[in-house]
Amino acid sequence: MDCIFCKIINNEIPSNRLFENDRFIAILDAFPANLGHALIIPKKHYCNIFDITDEDLQEAYKIAKYITIALKDTLKIDDFNLVQNNGSIAGQTVFHFHIHVIPRIKNDTVTIHSKVMEFDNSSIESVKNSVVKALSENTF
Ligand code: 5GP
Ligand code: ZN
Repeated sequence: MDCIFCKIINNEIPSNRLFENDRFIAILDAFPANLGHALIIPKKHYCNIFDITDEDLQEAYKIAKYITIALKDTLKIDDFNLVQNNGSIAGQTVFHFHIHVIPRIKNDTVTIHSKVMEFDNSSIESVKNSVVKALSENTF
């Protein structure tokens, strides 16, 4: 499979590793939005949120929390975005599940927030009802 993160996991291409265990790696992003921009990556090739197991998702966020704490201590900053893109329209460019930990400093150039949109009440109500129904039909 031609996946850059699988190649990094298999040591076929180099990376700046922050952490590794039998199921995960955390590395520095090669094209960082800020100093310390890190990626948490499961060793198993899941494409996105839809195919990662609940267990690995939980573990990925736990590792992301500890990476964030380590970056907080290292960089002496308190502000971070944790971002996880699914699909090309959402900005996913590497189709191997990963969580971004992005340190934030005042007046940096990171863009996360979009402008606020307005929708009519019937659209909002319809989406709410459909999601509540979908959730009630699912077993978690
Ligand atoms: P996505 O856009 O899929 O959410 O994030 C993919 C991330 O992987 C991007 O932030 C990009 O900079 C990073 N990236 C792409 N290629 C490499 C690479 O070869 N090494 C590392 N460390 N990061 C990479
Ligand atoms: Zn992969």
